[in-house]
Amino acid sequence: MGLTASSPIVLEGENLTMRFGGLVAMAEVAFTLKRGEILGIIGPNGAGKSTLLNIITGIYIPSSGEVRLEGERLNGVPAHKIVARGIARTFQSSRLFGDLSVLDNVIIGRHTHTKAGVFDAIFRRGRAKAELDAAAAHAETLLKSVSRGLHEQRHRPAGELAQADRRRLEIARALATDPKVLLLDEPSSGMDDADTDALMDDIRAVCAQRPDLALMIIEHDMRLVASLPHRVMVLDYGQKLADGPYEEIRRIPRVQEAYLGRKAAQHAGA
Ligand code: ADP
Ligand code: MG
Repeated sequence: MGLTASSPIVLEGENLTMRFGGLVAMAEVAFTLKRGEILGIIGPNGAGKSTLLNIITGIYIPSSGEVRLEGERLNGVPAHKIVARGIARTFQSSRLFGDLSVLDNVIIGRHTHTKAGVFDAIFRRGRAKAELDAAAAHAETLLKSVSRGLHEQRHRPAGELAQADRRRLEIARALATDPKVLLLDEPSSGMDDADTDALMDDIRAVCAQRPDLALMIIEHDMRLVASLPHRVMVLDYGQKLADGPYEEIRRIPRVQEAYLGRKAAQHAGA
């Protein structure tokens, strides 16, 4: 079905504030994410982008405010239960099992995200072979849907993959839990422009194949949110500066000043 004007809100945050001692990492931020929507979140380093994802996924408990998934409050729900309810994510830094095969990383992703659970997923006695075969078949289908090239490398240890393929694998692993909401934290970080563009194409295809999936993609590079997201939210110093279609937000003086201006200054070596 995809995003329409009447698509229901799947995820929303209200009045989210996060304090670390005296530091206010997030100040009264509100957001909504509709079914089938791709929301870009941009902002300079330290703006609070990862903090927002950590709040949504139960890693941080907000100092105040509330997150709701399909109307149900998530505050205080443990991280693994939030995954089970339908929110999956990738991290800014890789969390793959480098010694395990690409395929096994996806199979494990479907079962659990805790270390004890991983052990259980692989070694649990009495796990029927049929069940394992079904898990492998599901993982293969998933890998193919994310990237043919990655699927071809499914028996290689994840640690041997090129960086862009590691990112693809992280996405495949997150999708293995059949999420309603997928959160990507700077999937392009550390990659060159060509690899980044190819990865963005794959993310676009992943969304096209799953029209009901709601995606939140964090980037610090303005260029990367120009084409993929339906809507972009700009954070700066933990505050929401703007929220709207890229063509609108990029014209807002406060955004240009706070975000683009500073970036230009960084490029100039400041
Ligand atoms: P971004 O992802 O936009 O670069 P973050 O959300 O990681 O920014 O960080 C926002 C601010 O919150 C930064 O000043 C960061 O140092 C601070 N911060 C994030 N997590 C913690 C934490 N666990 N303890 C203390 N400060 C934190
Ligand atoms: Mg971050």
